[in-house]
Amino acid sequence: MNKTALEFDIIIAGAGVGGISAALAASRLQMRVLLIEQAEEVGGTGVFSSVSLVCTFRDSWGKPITGGIHRELFPAAYTHYSEKLVPTYDEQELKAAYESLLAAEPTLTLWTGCEVYRVDQQDGRIVRLHVQGNRTAVVTSKIYLDATADGNLSALAGMAYSLGREGDGKLQSATATFKVSGIDRSLLKEPDIRQWSAIHSLRKELLPYYLDMKAAGRTGNPRQGVTCFPYPNGEALLFNSTSVLDVDPTRPDSVISGKEEGIRQAQELFEAIRQHPAFHQAKLDYIAPKLGVREGRRIVGEYELTSEDCLQSRRFEDMVAACAYALDIHSPDGGATRLESIPEPGYYHIPYRSLIPKGCANLLLSSRCISGTHEAHSSYRIMASVSAIGEAAGTAAAICVFQGLQDVRDVKPAHIRFILQLRGQFVEGGVERIQMPASPSWAE
Ligand SMILES: Cc1cc2nc3c(=O)[nH]c(=O)nc-3n(C[C@H](O)[C@H](O)[C@H](O)COP(=O)(O)OP(=O)(O)OC[C@H]3O[C@@H](n4cnc5c(N)ncnc54)[C@H](O)[C@@H]3O)c2cc1C
Repeated sequence: MNKTALEFDIIIAGAGVGGISAALAASRLQMRVLLIEQAEEVGGTGVFSSVSLVCTFRDSWGKPITGGIHRELFPAAYTHYSEKLVPTYDEQELKAAYESLLAAEPTLTLWTGCEVYRVDQQDGRIVRLHVQGNRTAVVTSKIYLDATADGNLSALAGMAYSLGREGDGKLQSATATFKVSGIDRSLLKEPDIRQWSAIHSLRKELLPYYLDMKAAGRTGNPRQGVTCFPYPNGEALLFNSTSVLDVDPTRPDSVISGKEEGIRQAQELFEAIRQHPAFHQAKLDYIAPKLGVREGRRIVGEYELTSEDCLQSRRFEDMVAACAYALDIHSPDGGATRLESIPEPGYYHIPYRSLIPKGCANLLLSSRCISGTHEAHSSYRIMASVSAIGEAAGTAAAICVFQGLQDVRDVKPAHIRFILQLRGQFVEGGVERIQMPASPSWAE
């Protein structure tokens, strides 16, 4: 190796909600953080695949079981909560929030348009990453976080992983979402589309047009229904209703052909809904620039979260995050979506061990690629949980650096929870006080 490695305390690959939450958590604890994103802009799936809905982060009685950085990113979902309103967000506003929060951190360095393409390991530790794109560099740190959604960093480091449904390896369907404006809402049975009742009514109104198209064989979309959500101002809709099978994010060719099919289905569905009088003048504002791929690698960790854990609302001693969202499996075969709610009290714990890949002392998982089964992943992959996972991973990494620990396994969950709860994140279980540095590590 002839290049000198640039040094940081913590390096995070991937700037979606998991990576950004981790980067904010760690840099607010005075760590020198490098956040590397292969796209030209930060945001990941929640911005460039436009998913729109703030999936539930509340227990059976409506109490939030996340907070912290998720609350900073989606403030209206907390302050304007009502059971009647669909909690949604605008992806451009989310992107602006990401950018301003990241820019406010003096110890955070952001590289966009840069891909981690090689990882060097020695004696069960990552020693450096190789980066290409807008910059060509070799970078090193004490702790590394994989926030790439698909576990790309872990795979490059040789970690074991699972992909797809147990048995046949098939993945949840992918979706090209699209935004429609210019709707004459006065022609809808329930015009205030910010309300759940109006959205359910609208979906029923649109269904016959879509089914006619399916019956005539004019779409390859296997979905049975039409799914859409309002934008927060109630003036446009995000359709999350196309369904592309057999998209494997670890194979670029399948993502490219999946995107082509997704665009085709989006255009077909738009033509169908335009038959409804309220949509005669509607505009297809855009099809999300990135195909929405729901599932990627699940890295094998110290604990594999299962559907039983989710459906038994399981508690863990080493809890560092929580999830209230249902099992939501968009069928890999194109059939109906399987939705199973989390029983009372309506949420389960995510243990720290699921964030620790087996076989590496200085790597943590900080996105949907944590250790879990295909079914459990369909639940915790939502942005509220991924943000909480990222915040926990960033906090754990900072503690590891600050305490000079050689292995991420040695970080005490009670210390992680202590800091998380100080910063407004939801935790359960004991906390143990820890003093974090008042001044940055690099200034000492
Ligand atoms: C169609 C669809 C609908 C959904 N609907 C909802 C919803 O309504 N509500 C909800 O809460 N959730 C929803 N989800 C789930 C949720 O959006 C995602 O699971 C979540 O945003 C994933 O966040 P992440 O940080 O794990 O990954 P991402 O946001 O995907 O970020 C990963 C980032 O890593 C980068 N990266 C990858 N490899 C490298 C590398 N080698 N080097 C550098 N950077 C790299 C990528 O470019 C990307 O920006 C939906 C998902 C899909 C696909």
